Amino acid sequence: MPLPSPLEKITHPLFKQFGLEVFIKRDDLIHPIISGNKWRKLKGNLVQAKQLGKKGILSFGGAYSNHIHALAYACFSEKLPCIGVIRGEEFYQQNTTLKQAAQWQMQLKFVDRQTYRMRHHPDYLAELAKEFPDYFIVPEGGTNIYALSGMAEVIEELEQQVEFDTLITATGSAGTISGLIAADNNKHQLIGIPVLKQGEYLVNEIKRLFPKNCQKFNNWQLRTEFHRGGYGKFSAADAERIVEFIDTTGIPFEPVYSGKMLLAFLDMMLAGEFKQGQRIVLLHTGGLQGLNGLAERGKINLAQWHLPSALQAQ
Ligand SMILES: *Cc1c(COP(=O)(O)O)cnc(C)c1O
Repeated sequence: MPLPSPLEKITHPLFKQFGLEVFIKRDDLIHPIISGNKWRKLKGNLVQAKQLGKKGILSFGGAYSNHIHALAYACFSEKLPCIGVIRGEEFYQQNTTLKQAAQWQMQLKFVDRQTYRMRHHPDYLAELAKEFPDYFIVPEGGTNIYALSGMAEVIEELEQQVEFDTLITATGSAGTISGLIAADNNKHQLIGIPVLKQGEYLVNEIKRLFPKNCQKFNNWQLRTEFHRGGYGKFSAADAERIVEFIDTTGIPFEPVYSGKMLLAFLDMMLAGEFKQGQRIVLLHTGGLQGLNGLAERGKINLAQWHLPSALQAQ
């Protein structure tokens, strides 16, 4: 993996107007197809699995999951067997995300939605551990304490790359922002943008999952008002704004995570929340493979989204 991931300065007429310096940390470039933050979160989990003498990894995800996609490839490249417990029916294995995961030798285990809802329940996890005793079980999204060290590397890399005031990231299961909080040591303002509705619960989730790291710091916040209708939801106007930004800057985004983070940042800027001269880093968490699934479901027209050629070839 080419690390550190590049940091690029973005030029845009609006940033000039508001007197901001805006940078983007291109974790989408860590790998041509593997989602940046999922790769980082998995690293420590792979180490832990090996240390425990496990032969493989088992984890959970939806049918278009960036985490499942990244896990399949990570295990493939490390020659570790892996099992994906997938929410939904077997026909989903036709989609690009799961077709690729299967090509990378992930074993797919489809479960109905009711069973999938048990994914954090101790009884269900104990059942899985009994059925697959040689597998290290990683929660959905790869979010657990072993994810923190990989995310810390983002902060370490940034310290070598730029002086900045504020970092903004998309937030789903909150493993990403937790790792950033833990490593940042109260130095910068860290803003997480939950991409799902009613993201307030994530504050407690962060404190519950990562108590040592997060209780003593007050430099972070979740801005829960930018979910745009819920997970995977966005309006035609949202999509248009993202595509316009892609066209102006040449940087690819998708509307489920990185694009929502971008729109939230633009909205905060337009509302005058940032001071003149402030230096802001947007964390591009990757996830571009998800564009394939959105196109397959007719939610976007892929031709407009200017995918990197590595993704187009799939
Ligand atoms: C999973 C994901 C996120 C959210 O990360 P969490 O650690 O779950 O908060 C952000 N961006 C992309 C592209 C993702 O795939």
